[in-house]
Amino acid sequence: MMSLIKHYIDEANKVLIHTYNRYPLVLDRGEGMYLYDINGKKYLDFTSGIGVFALGYNDEEYNQALKKQIDLLLHTSNYFYTIPAIEAAQKLAKASGMDRVFFTNSGTEAVEGAIKLARKYYYKKTGKTGGEIISMERAFHGRSMGALSVTGTKKYRDPFEPLIGGVKFAEFNNLDSVKDLINDNTCAVIMEPVQGEGGIYPAAQDFIRGVRELCDSKGIVLIFDEIQCGMGRTGSMYAYQHYNVKPDIITCAKALGCGVPVGAFAATEEIASAFEPGDHGTTYGGNPFVTAAVSKVFDLFESRNITENVQKTGQYLYKKLNELKSKYSIISDHRGIGLMQGLEFSVPVKDIINDALEMGLILISAGANVIRFLPPLIAGKYHVDEMIGILTDCLDKAKKN
Ligand SMILES: *Cc1c(COP(=O)(O)O)cnc(C)c1O
Repeated sequence: MMSLIKHYIDEANKVLIHTYNRYPLVLDRGEGMYLYDINGKKYLDFTSGIGVFALGYNDEEYNQALKKQIDLLLHTSNYFYTIPAIEAAQKLAKASGMDRVFFTNSGTEAVEGAIKLARKYYYKKTGKTGGEIISMERAFHGRSMGALSVTGTKKYRDPFEPLIGGVKFAEFNNLDSVKDLINDNTCAVIMEPVQGEGGIYPAAQDFIRGVRELCDSKGIVLIFDEIQCGMGRTGSMYAYQHYNVKPDIITCAKALGCGVPVGAFAATEEIASAFEPGDHGTTYGGNPFVTAAVSKVFDLFESRNITENVQKTGQYLYKKLNELKSKYSIISDHRGIGLMQGLEFSVPVKDIINDALEMGLILISAGANVIRFLPPLIAGKYHVDEMIGILTDCLDKAKKN
């Protein structure tokens, strides 16, 4: 049986472009908090497909909504209206406190759209092109040329220069460093309220409020990238709601569709009105199939009190990870909020993650030294205990080596 897995991995390595160091798993189904490989081996999933499967795997109500839409209509193009797209936009606008929504096929495209909208708003307001954007060190916003331009990891950007111009990077959680970069040409500040890929760093209250005030005083558009930290992940529908500030544009993806590829950017009326017909577009974006999923996701979040569960399980996870931190000296820091937490180690975490995998636990890193915990948002105490049990065994093993 092992050889069947090896066979598929060998085939994959011949045909797929090598942009990922994949785990040696061939998965074929999921149920709730668990994934199964083609041999039927069961894995507890604390990754949810990088924060996507908020409702867990193979949810009956969610699946039925998709099956129903498949039989009705999958796609129309954006030259027509469809009810799923209208309803999904209403629910997203209401949950995010924004007025207008544009659906995309991914998070990256949501960031692209947000940047374009901020530039267009600046152009309309000042008559000038070249609006500058301030992003944050360690930020992750995607891999396309535009989204990569505002991604804060130099190693990701360097081989692809020249990227879009006019982007500067401030130090996250250092308000003075943002202040220093602002000038008359600044059109937007983009940031994740909780940095995800960069290593799970929540924004400090003073920082995020200070950035909002700076943007207000200078007429600068504030973009919150909530692609990873949004959709209930931190215990409120959007992470910014913990901070009592509001962005002008928000980006959303990952758990927005809970498995179907969909993203969105949403904006206030004033900012959104800068776009006119012809300024932006997408063939697939927001088609009735994916927006039927989005619409159902919002309904299920509400009927199942997902954010309350995240608060409850998140607190328990926080306590348990803190206990690990005090017990193992190789754990140097513990950060996060809700079901978006990270443990930073004084050593690379690759071996620990591989050991966990062998013992039936799926974890991912965020950078070389941070293990990131992003379970489906239906996780309960029981799952946290199961995860901590396996992780403890892995850490004991790491201690011995
Ligand atoms: C994952 C992610 C993106 C990119 O989304 P894709 O769907 O992979 O294109 C952008 N921003 C943040 C904060 C993310 O976590």
